[in-house]
Amino acid sequence: SVVEDAPALTDGFQLVIDALKLNDITNLYVVPGIPISDLLRMAQAEGMRVVSFRHEQNAGNAAAIAGFMTKKPGVCMTVSAPGFLNGLTALANATTNCFPMILISGSSEREVVDLQQGDYEEMDQLAIAKPLCKAAFRILHAQDIGIGVARAIRAAVSGRPGGVYLDLPAKLFSQVMDAAEGAKSLVKVVDPTPAQYPSTEAVNRALDLLKGAKRPLVIFGKGAAYAQADDTIRAFVEKSGIPFLQMSMAKGLLPDTHPQSAGAARSLVLQDADVVMLVGARLNWLLSHGKGKTWGKPGSKKFIQVDIEPREMDSNVEIHAPLVGDIASVMEVLLKGIDGGLTPPTDWMATVAAKREQNVAKMAPKLMSNASPMNFHGALGALRRVIKERPDAMLVNEGANTLDLARGIIDMYEPRKRLDVGTWGVMGVGMGYAVAAAVESGKPVLAVEGDSAFGFSGMEVETICRYNLPVCIVIFNNNGIYRGTDVNPTGGNDPSPMVFVPGSRYDKMMEAFGGVGVHVTNPDELYRAVNEAMDSGRPTLVNAVIDPAAGTESGNIGSLNPTSSVRKM
Ligand code: ADP
Repeated sequence: SVVEDAPALTDGFQLVIDALKLNDITNLYVVPGIPISDLLRMAQAEGMRVVSFRHEQNAGNAAAIAGFMTKKPGVCMTVSAPGFLNGLTALANATTNCFPMILISGSSEREVVDLQQGDYEEMDQLAIAKPLCKAAFRILHAQDIGIGVARAIRAAVSGRPGGVYLDLPAKLFSQVMDAAEGAKSLVKVVDPTPAQYPSTEAVNRALDLLKGAKRPLVIFGKGAAYAQADDTIRAFVEKSGIPFLQMSMAKGLLPDTHPQSAGAARSLVLQDADVVMLVGARLNWLLSHGKGKTWGKPGSKKFIQVDIEPREMDSNVEIHAPLVGDIASVMEVLLKGIDGGLTPPTDWMATVAAKREQNVAKMAPKLMSNASPMNFHGALGALRRVIKERPDAMLVNEGANTLDLARGIIDMYEPRKRLDVGTWGVMGVGMGYAVAAAVESGKPVLAVEGDSAFGFSGMEVETICRYNLPVCIVIFNNNGIYRGTDVNPTGGNDPSPMVFVPGSRYDKMMEAFGGVGVHVTNPDELYRAVNEAMDSGRPTLVNAVIDPAAGTESGNIGSLNPTSSVRKM
């Protein structure tokens, strides 16, 4: 019959799904709508995990952190114009943080958009995305889907990872082509992150500095965690005997309790080190740009930097020994290179350890407090115990005081378990990160959230309940931004812009969607509630009442607030 003789056909919908699956992309973080709804239905029917959010920014953040966790691009899909714009914040954040991510947005008809004739959700999305990501592509023909998806994947993960935008006009999905031709057009990306070794000369330059150092220090950033070179990194640290610092999302690469950890002696090592080796960490604001008071006497240090991005070298201060390459390869070469030739700096390590013990002892009693109303230290002391007892749990953390204090107090024991506000110090990543952390790891997730930070993505508690994810959200509820005590200076009825409804019960939000809500007022209750949630795996929100007077302006970064010499607030 005619039907049997007709060549088998495929279409744009199918080819997009086939191209992603061929490249081992199995999870999609999405918000449905025109023109991608059918694509998402088909993806689910084809066995992909399609996680549908309430707002694109959260779906995008989920994709970005999936990229960090897995070293494969996380994929977010959105509708055109407004959905695309909502996803763009996450794409820009992924690029800033060097997380591989692909934002795929449906778009309107090129012919109409380019003539600006007012199409449904008209917007020149490709042009708008370009400055905010590593690369941006548009696919106009079904036969180009294979190569377009391959380009997007390679752009996201190769070199310095980052965000990629892929524009798929509505018309593309319904384009039809011969199925065999279509299958042939697909591309599986070969060797997307090639090993990249620095030259022998560059390696020797760095080794000479390390071997000559009296007070060396290694700083690991989230690039080192991302690289998944955990064993090599650990071997290097232990063989060299050099103290190390771990940036926020690198915490746990080596356990924070490791004898060589200088985490609790940060000020000392930054001041006094003579040779500092940066591994997947940038000398940006988070490290005071490598200069100023934090870093001791000007000119007192020599820097080695390991990074895949050559232009990162000398970005803020002179890098005396740049090692451009991928962290796994570079650390492997350095590990061989220190064999026999490097004497562990035992005196210096002892000085660092003494300072660390002193600081740890000073902090300890504050973490034991069971006072009510809770302060940050008492509450975080309880959560610190939870993570100590469950080192493989994922920890998501955002807020101001909630972030800064949790980072210092909660020790991490395993790599890539701590997900937080990253390079921008951005609020709003919490629920997107929590969802992806659960989906990608299959482990229980503890999300420690300031009440203000939670508000940016709070509606996703419905998503967490709908997918029945093992996420326990703890809201540090002190009634406001930084604190809950600000008042309107005019005496008018409006509250201060810095406060929320006092005594809010965020736990009730979780109950509204069938999850577990718990209201706690002291650290013992908090500890019990979180443990129960982590055991049961049920979606849980713990409303942890914190003293409204606890908390400082902007947490640890109050100095970044501009102040007026004319008017004092
Ligand atoms: P942190 O905020 O933890 O200090 P950053 O995000 O500032 O970390 O720095 C991460 C760095 O790691 C970036 O400069 C990035 O280019 C680099 N990087 C990421 N992945 C790799 C890799 N596989 N090999 C080498 N460098 C990498």
